Amino acid sequence: MKRQLLIIYSLGILLTGCAGLGTYNPATERNEFIFISTPEEIAMGRQIHNSLAKEYEFSKNQNDIQRVQRVGEKLTLISDRQDYQYSFYVIDKDELNAFTVPGGSIYIYTGLLEKLENDDELAAVLAHEIGHCAARHTVKKYQAALGYDLIGNVVLNQVGWGGYAKQVANISSDVLMKIVFSSYGRKDEFEADRLGIKYSYLAGYDPEGMIEVFKILKKGSAGSADVPLFLRSHPYNDDRITQARKYIPEIKSKYSQVSP
Ligand SMILES: [Zn+2]
Repeated sequence: MKRQLLIIYSLGILLTGCAGLGTYNPATERNEFIFISTPEEIAMGRQIHNSLAKEYEFSKNQNDIQRVQRVGEKLTLISDRQDYQYSFYVIDKDELNAFTVPGGSIYIYTGLLEKLENDDELAAVLAHEIGHCAARHTVKKYQAALGYDLIGNVVLNQVGWGGYAKQVANISSDVLMKIVFSSYGRKDEFEADRLGIKYSYLAGYDPEGMIEVFKILKKGSAGSADVPLFLRSHPYNDDRITQARKYIPEIKSKYSQVSP
């Protein structure tokens, strides 16, 4: 008990001290304290991808794969985050879903891909996921889930920062996989929607595609008990449409489209 209190107390001091030192993130326009480095994040992502590859069937449809990669790559050029390479994969599963893992890998299910009527809608889905990457929501989710034990050990001087990096590298795939499908908070979803609109607009797509996607998701999830990850926002889907309608003119007046 005493040890736990000491960790909480020390963590408070550590995080308060680091808040001012945080790195500015142009995606969120805030200073942030991220203690999982980009190489560590990429290593975690690789481990997760290997587990996903064992568990899921990846599509072999070259048309689908190339379409997702073509639209995705156009969007990544615009992303506020450029310190790693993005990758896009199509999972062969009849579900309205898409998700991101640490290290910039983005996955979309064939079930969702088939429902998207044009590249503007596909761009909206992929740009939303790229938004989670750029805002570092993905890595923050991992930090929040893993942080207590990891930082606690550093604070108590049991491992030091070098040992900490080693600990991150040694986290089991089971633990990492569990966090993949945990949901983001409502605030993060709105932020990813806004960034998704920004990136798709700047890459030359019609940002109204985002609203069309919400309509597809809403229709597809009606009466379904099993709500997929991309839809965790389901209870506030209408709020997301309302917000997106505000973001679109805001983004259009703030930024200029570079590659129509
Ligand atoms: Zn999301």
